[in-house]
Amino acid sequence: MRVVTDRQEMAQLCREARRPLGLVPTMGALHRGHLALVEQARRESATLAATIFVNPAQFGPQEDLAGYPRDLEHDLELLKSAGVDLVYVPAVEQVYPPGFDTWVEVGRLASRLEGARRPGHFRGVATVVTKLLSLTRPDRAYFGQKDAQQTRVIKQLVRDLDLGVEVVVAPTVREPDGLALSSRNAYLTTEQRRAAPVVYRALCRAEQLWQRGEREGGRLRREVRMALQSERLVEEIDYVSVADAATLEELDRVAGPALVSLAVKLGAPHLIDNITLE
Ligand code: AMP
Repeated sequence: MRVVTDRQEMAQLCREARRPLGLVPTMGALHRGHLALVEQARRESATLAATIFVNPAQFGPQEDLAGYPRDLEHDLELLKSAGVDLVYVPAVEQVYPPGFDTWVEVGRLASRLEGARRPGHFRGVATVVTKLLSLTRPDRAYFGQKDAQQTRVIKQLVRDLDLGVEVVVAPTVREPDGLALSSRNAYLTTEQRRAAPVVYRALCRAEQLWQRGEREGGRLRREVRMALQSERLVEEIDYVSVADAATLEELDRVAGPALVSLAVKLGAPHLIDNITLE
């Protein structure tokens, strides 16, 4: 496994790589969710590249960029065992050199849900993903359904900017009690960790009602909220959404595929999760 910190060297190695080339972008602090992406990508690629970069541009001023979990040595061991060929680990100045002044803004899709809760977040994500895709020019890039809105935003920018890469979305990996794996789960205290499965239970409540024939968006959102409120450690519900799975427009009635998504504050971190009804 080659570990590369220089952007020109990374571009050159990708140009020379055997195709198809797969890319798995991450912010490190790797867990089984990341590794599932890597494993799928490994099966489908002749050359597999991953990136580890905690992207300052996607953190808000109130968000803890400095405290984001980092464990580079362990991450590199995991990627090596998973059969990754190239890992790009750039310093911030490699990605945003002095004078950097171009940003990628996705419109409507990025304005709602996480975009409304975290202004500027998707501008940071869209910019760094565009840069990583332009630098490495992979055939396929792999992202997790855990960050459902992010996958939609990336598909939109790939289409709009003619980036010519296939965006592959892999299912959410969960703990046995339903909690979606996330690097941010490391912030949870023991008590909060015990309470955290309420997030997935609340989503399952919507699915259960939907399976019984409930199609009213308002009713589904209300039931998810009630399920969340049953847990006293949920300090704040940022949003509960039942939206068109493609456009992310809020639905009055569920007729086609719908994305049920939510964000809650449970202790220090905000947890996000989603399921698809289809
Ligand atoms: P991050 O390091 O949090 O930016 O995540 C890197 C990639 O891993 C993103 O495409 C995430 O959606 C994906 N990912 C994170 N958590 C999970 C999970 N529990 N299951 C599947 N994919 C995940």
